[in-house]
Amino acid sequence: MPLRSLPPLPEPASEERIEGLAAELREQHPALALVRGLAERTRLSRDYHDYSPVLASLLAGRVAQLAARATCVEEVVAVAGACARHGVPLTLRGAGTGNYGQCVPLAGGMVLDLTGLRALRQLDPHSGVVEAEAGWVLADLDRRLGQAGRALRLQPSTGRTATLAGFIAGGSGGIGSLRWGFLRDPGNLLGLEVVTVEPRPRLLRLDATDAAALNHAYGTNGILTAVRLATCAAIPWWQLVVDFASLEEALAAAAALPATSLLLNALCLLEAPLAAGMPWPAGCPAPRSGEHRLLLLSAPDALEALPGWLAAHGGRECWRQAEDASRGVPLRELGWNHTTLHWRSQREGWTYLQMLLPRPEAPLLAAVRQRWGADVLWHLEAVRQGGDARLAALPLVRWRGLDDLEALIDQCRALGAVIFDPHTITVEDGGLGVVDGHQVAAKGRFDPQGLLNPGKLRGWFSRTPG
Ligand code: FAD
Repeated sequence: MPLRSLPPLPEPASEERIEGLAAELREQHPALALVRGLAERTRLSRDYHDYSPVLASLLAGRVAQLAARATCVEEVVAVAGACARHGVPLTLRGAGTGNYGQCVPLAGGMVLDLTGLRALRQLDPHSGVVEAEAGWVLADLDRRLGQAGRALRLQPSTGRTATLAGFIAGGSGGIGSLRWGFLRDPGNLLGLEVVTVEPRPRLLRLDATDAAALNHAYGTNGILTAVRLATCAAIPWWQLVVDFASLEEALAAAAALPATSLLLNALCLLEAPLAAGMPWPAGCPAPRSGEHRLLLLSAPDALEALPGWLAAHGGRECWRQAEDASRGVPLRELGWNHTTLHWRSQREGWTYLQMLLPRPEAPLLAAVRQRWGADVLWHLEAVRQGGDARLAALPLVRWRGLDDLEALIDQCRALGAVIFDPHTITVEDGGLGVVDGHQVAAKGRFDPQGLLNPGKLRGWFSRTPG
């Protein structure tokens, strides 16, 4: 069962201990920005977990006792060492856009903001491999890569705010997952620079194999100061909006399109009520009543054949525009968890779920509709999973209490879906539900006192001593 309560946590550090930590940092690193005020500490202790009513009540009132903003690796090392010497929990933070309460400090202590680490370490002109510091905003990094004809393979829909290290430690995929799968797929993440949390921290370089244990570990087993990634050739993507009168036809097109040779970077399907509730880009007409929408990012060379293919599958192209000419909300900010954001911003009482759909997808969608009616609305995303074109779903779910949520999860699981549960705080429960021994072993090596983001790695707090 996923954890829906707080795990065992260390006692908050005493006032004296926090004062001792702050005094040491002030004395030895006067340039390091420390944050003492409650309002700013509270802001730095939040993310977007309130999409889940379960997490909203579980994490209410969890605030760091002290925060700091690092601007260079030396300051990260200083904070890591001081926290280890004073035995104070340390939670890392990028832009704070996570949905699982990943950067909410459950046990108080220190929150370290790494958005100030912004050096570009390397961009190899031959391979396109990039190494950049933790705090780069992904869209900025993508623009920088574009100057060299390269692009990030994967970006969350929050790319305009989210940081590089926050994406690696807290994210999974998004725009580009249709081509490149997920961050954890071998070949995307090539290496990490990591600071350990020890009285005398080590600065380590991990290759792709060793870095895997820190990929999507919520910053529980090492501080990422730089990330090494494979990139891809930059393509000037076009936004396309296609309407379907029938959900069955839209679903069939969404399932079949990624298996063609039409080059796409994103494919999102919104069921009619969701499509009607989105803020469309300037110039893009709202859908006609009852029409379902496919949102595509298409390569220029696919634009010739796409309309014919879509028409043959029951679709009607109703808008297209080059992405770099977009005004208003771009299509990439209508998919993934932005669908959830826009829908919730207009209505109270809705949450969401995440799953990989079984194939064929239609029976699950129909069975859920039969049981829950319009309390579950379908939002699908095309992804590559283990090399295969698949459809993931992030349905909007009317909140009817925890029992109904569990019943919906059980039903989807019984029908063959793989659930990625966004109503739980641990790395494992939000993922495949199993403890990854490599993640736990890395924590033992890089955070032996267990100070990093306490309570988020189930394999650590539930391990048997010895
Ligand atoms: P934060 O939220 O600040 O941190 C995330 C985790 O990483 C935390 O556990 C934190 O402790 C840890 N961390 C941060 N910096 C470091 C570091 N230097 N070293 C070690 N650990 C660190 N996610 C997706 O994967 N795909 C999506 O398409 C997507 N869409 C979203 C849409 C919306 C509207 C919202 C609100 C969220 C979405 N997310 C998505 C979740 C989130 O935006 C992304 O995962 C994002 O990449 C997180 O980056 P961040 O800088 O905000 O990280």
